[in-house]
Amino acid sequence: MHLDGNHDPSQRPSSEWRFHRDILKARPEVQAIVHTHPPYSTMLAIMGMEIPPVHYMVAVAGGDTIRCAPYATFGTQELSEHAVKALEGRLACLLEHHGMIAVGTSLSKAMWLAVEVETLARQYHGCLQIGTPPLLSKEEIEKVRLRMAGYGYAEE
Ligand SMILES: [Zn+2]
Repeated sequence: MHLDGNHDPSQRPSSEWRFHRDILKARPEVQAIVHTHPPYSTMLAIMGMEIPPVHYMVAVAGGDTIRCAPYATFGTQELSEHAVKALEGRLACLLEHHGMIAVGTSLSKAMWLAVEVETLARQYHGCLQIGTPPLLSKEEIEKVRLRMAGYGYAEE
C-alpha cells in the first residue's frame, strides 16, 4: 500500500493501515512498524496500564514509560490518532484492550523491540504478583538511554 492510500486491488491492506500510514507520516525516522497482540503486553493493555520504569531496559523504547494509548475501535482513525500520540518521543506503546506497537529504523530493530517490550510486560506482570514493584527514577532512565545510544543497543 502507498502512503496516498492506493493499493493493488487484488491485495487488501491490514485493517490497521491507518496507524501504519499515520505513524510513518508523523515520524520520518521510522522505517518499520510491528503491531502484535502478545499475551503479557495485551494483559497490561486490557487493564489500561502503562509499563513503568521497573527495569532499565524500559529505556530502549525511548523514555521512562511505555505508554498505553486509550481504547478506540480497531481500524479507526481515532485509534490511529491515539497511537501516534502515545508514540510521541517513544518507539513503542500499548493499545488499551488491544495490543502493542513497536517501531524502528528497520524491520529487524522494530521486531527486536517488540520482543523486548513483551519481555518487560512479562517481568512487570510477574512483579505485580509479588507486590508493588519499586521504580527507577526518570533521571536514571535518561542516563541509561544516553549510555545505550553510544553502546549500539538494538543494533544488528
Ligand atoms: Zn491489532
